[in-house]
Amino acid sequence: MASPTQTKSDSGAEKYADINWDELGFDLVPADYMYVTKCDKEENFTTEVGNIIPYANIAISPFAGILNYGQIGAERLCMPSPSIEHFVEAVKQTVLANKHWVPPPGKGSLYVRPLLIGSGPVLSLVTAPEISFLIYACPVGNYHKGPLNLLVEDKTHRATPGGTGDIKTITNYSPVYKAIAQAKARGFSDVLFLDAGNVISTPAICGTILPGITRKSIIEIALGFGYQVEERVIPLVDLFDVDEVFCTGTAVVVSPVASITYGDKRIEYKTGAETVSKKLYDMLTGIQTGRIEDKMGWTVEID
Ligand SMILES: *Cc1c(COP(=O)(O)O)cnc(C)c1O
Repeated sequence: MASPTQTKSDSGAEKYADINWDELGFDLVPADYMYVTKCDKEENFTTEVGNIIPYANIAISPFAGILNYGQIGAERLCMPSPSIEHFVEAVKQTVLANKHWVPPPGKGSLYVRPLLIGSGPVLSLVTAPEISFLIYACPVGNYHKGPLNLLVEDKTHRATPGGTGDIKTITNYSPVYKAIAQAKARGFSDVLFLDAGNVISTPAICGTILPGITRKSIIEIALGFGYQVEERVIPLVDLFDVDEVFCTGTAVVVSPVASITYGDKRIEYKTGAETVSKKLYDMLTGIQTGRIEDKMGWTVEID
């Protein structure tokens, strides 16, 4: 499954896996090892039981909570979760085990995916008896190949107040595949779902927006640059009147939006070199890659 690798010893002679790093896209290239641990629903995860094992399919019951009821998402979905220390330790172990899959500087990133699932079998609507926590990884290049052209979707809703739009659940994505596929067929890059100068506005976190770590990091970086950041309800009409629009997330980092189309109205935005989004992107990736000194205390050395 995993591509052949050259690093079989610790000599460091072959630092990188044998793939074409110049053509790294957003395709599935599983790194060699994954971290796996389990716990009983009544218990908490402990660091002693976790293991690094070769990347492989996992076996779960067809009755697994995750498959039948979509149980992924910690407290809100009634599952125990690892402590922050356990999480960080498990990520370190996964990255170290896969170190030759960390792309050479400038070629991409190692996308680390943690997954918490109700893996035990259930028949009724209750927490699965067994919860699994896995971390696996995949080297990736850029998710989007340039600025985004978005289509405003006003019929399908991605999230509703009181729902689960603000947590990492399995339902965040497949319910919108259809809207995205239809927008892509019309030539757009993605869909903008409606929600609810030196000012950067982001929708307030009130049940439909996931308080992502990238969003949070970008807010802090923007404040550091002296921008005023407001978290508020953003009416659609406000989008007709701004200079720049961008999206954030671990996978997309900071992605500039080139245009938004609503019905037959299309608004274009500034993208490219002299933009705020570029400045924020450069700062965040600079800190991530060690090019810029991390004054935020966000980076962790693992080796
Ligand atoms: C994962 C996710 C994000 C991005 O969060 P990050 O922590 O920045 O990766 C944003 N919105 C939704 C709905 C998500 O599932």
